[in-house]
Amino acid sequence: MKDSLLKYIGCPYCLRELACYPSRPSGSAAAADPEIQEGVLACPECRRFFPIIDLLPELLPDGLRDWKRDLARFEAWEGLIPAGDFPGLLEKARAIAGAPLPGGDRGLGYKRAEIGIESKISDPDFFGPGYSSPFNPHNTEFSMHLIRRFGNVLPLLDVKRGDVVLDVGAGYAWTTEWLTKMGIAAIGIDICRTYLEIGVRRMGRALPHLVIGDIEHLPLQSGCLDAVLCFDAFHHIPDRPRTMGQFVRALGPSGRIAMAEPGGSHEFIEVSQDVMDKYGILEKGLDLDDVFSYCRGLDVALPEQHFVLKIGGRERGQNLSRAFVQSHSQVDCKYFTIRKGPDGAASIPGRVLAGKRIKARIKSRLRKLYFDWLS
Ligand SMILES: [Zn+2]
Repeated sequence: MKDSLLKYIGCPYCLRELACYPSRPSGSAAAADPEIQEGVLACPECRRFFPIIDLLPELLPDGLRDWKRDLARFEAWEGLIPAGDFPGLLEKARAIAGAPLPGGDRGLGYKRAEIGIESKISDPDFFGPGYSSPFNPHNTEFSMHLIRRFGNVLPLLDVKRGDVVLDVGAGYAWTTEWLTKMGIAAIGIDICRTYLEIGVRRMGRALPHLVIGDIEHLPLQSGCLDAVLCFDAFHHIPDRPRTMGQFVRALGPSGRIAMAEPGGSHEFIEVSQDVMDKYGILEKGLDLDDVFSYCRGLDVALPEQHFVLKIGGRERGQNLSRAFVQSHSQVDCKYFTIRKGPDGAASIPGRVLAGKRIKARIKSRLRKLYFDWLS
């Protein structure tokens, strides 16, 4: 973890800036941004501590932590924290670890399945692609698919150099890596250490910001983001309205969310059902009316869907019907954008109205695309 990540991350409960131990030596050059291999992050508000292990900070909520490991490490690290900074921290941790888990997190089973994925894998090549992501010479088509999908969603993020972007469900973190190499301050977050560690091994020491955390308890300070990227990630999240609320909280005033995700039929296809059965991971895609329902009551403008179509010269003048769009689509996922702003989604009273508005929106959007193409 780089020292500069501290200005973005926060306690998943209080959202407060965290104190880091070992702390950066005072007087160190401003340009130096050392990596912290191992350490402790402590919240001044609720007095929880979180570990940094093998370069990765773990900012998981209580019910998803490995308390046995964390307490053992913290006992070993206690000397790092100057006496008087956080008295009673270890006692507080022991009390939380021993307390019954708070209820209300219906997605706990899915999240634990993702965290423990390594224990369910018997195929020795399963994680192989992570060491060269997104390139896989044994699966050229899939490599091209990933890069095409990324290339399409990138302009929807609408970012410029220096913008702070959250890369949700970063996995092997090649998307975080590529954004960082473009000059964007990307923060990759994933609930599963295994995937991020493979990314770390692939990238070597030139690491982007990476965090282990639960998106529903987003461990970022409020208003610190310019954009959020959901690249094949949102469809694994159980509580979507809560997650969307977390994004909007962490975004600055003109922040935006861009998504490249499978559509609503995703959970019914064979491969998704296999993954759910075998690994216990949620595979639930989304359509535009779902996105609307996740945004209800939030301070965002009406969500939009974007299309990439191939239209032949002989098809000029044809109606852009739903069937036409489906048969001419150049992508196998759905692209959505949501802008933080005062109009729209907060006033949607129900699903029926949302559906009508969506249809009108799609129609006008398609018309625009059509006329843009003709002009
Ligand atoms: Zn806290």
